[in-house]
Amino acid sequence: MNLRTLAAGALAATLIVPELRAAELPLFDAHVHYSHDAWDNLPPKDAIEILRKAGVMRALVSSSGDDGTQRLVAEAPDLIVPSLRPYRQRGELSTWVNDETVVRFLEERLGASKYAAIGEFHLYGADADLPVPRRLVALAKQHRLVLHAHSDVDAIERLFRQDPAARILWAHSGFAQPGELREMLRKHRNLWCDLAFRSDHGGTGKVPAEWRALFSEFPDRFMVGTDTFTPERWHYIAPHAQWTREWLADLPPALAERIGWRNGAALFRDWKPQPEQ
Ligand SMILES: [Zn+2]
Repeated sequence: MNLRTLAAGALAATLIVPELRAAELPLFDAHVHYSHDAWDNLPPKDAIEILRKAGVMRALVSSSGDDGTQRLVAEAPDLIVPSLRPYRQRGELSTWVNDETVVRFLEERLGASKYAAIGEFHLYGADADLPVPRRLVALAKQHRLVLHAHSDVDAIERLFRQDPAARILWAHSGFAQPGELREMLRKHRNLWCDLAFRSDHGGTGKVPAEWRALFSEFPDRFMVGTDTFTPERWHYIAPHAQWTREWLADLPPALAERIGWRNGAALFRDWKPQPEQ
């Protein structure tokens, strides 16, 4: 054995490791925030490392303010799917609907960077028809962006009335119960649901019958998410990924793969990072 074959052998050995790791189900985390109060204690490099170590292959990230998302995109364009949040800082989540300056902020950001989605925004009931949210929906339509909505049923209905062709990712599956979700998913083919910050679909590591039936009826519409709404939640990404794999293992493998990552990958298949990033 000469040096060259030794080196080739060593190379082959290092290549096997990621493949063994890939036996662990990769995840598309559809609900990540990297907001301003997380930046100092968790620099972008460390944040990306947390995601990679957890086996997250892609993450839909939105931040208050948007610079957090941009920093992560710059660090890992292959991993981060950027979403534009209408909040410049924490605390705007209940005031943005009446804040005209939000429109300008969105327009400026959309002119400067590329995004795959707008959100996550908080929007309830008749507020969805106020001028600022209407403008946000129009911008999403113009730029072909998915709407990531933390909303009740009423607001989701109003968003679809404004743009019947909208693609909506319903944050936390609206905290709705399986019966209500079934009704909404049957009615709207462009509605997807993330399962962030809830555990009723698999808290014990097993999937309850009513959720199993719902996932089976709509295998293409659900995805998982951690929701790092506070900086501390970043340290929950790995345990959350582990728990996610546990309850997904209670489903048929093809369905588990869809919910685990394929549905997210499919919804955002058109997303390409800018070449210069
Ligand atoms: Zn959130």
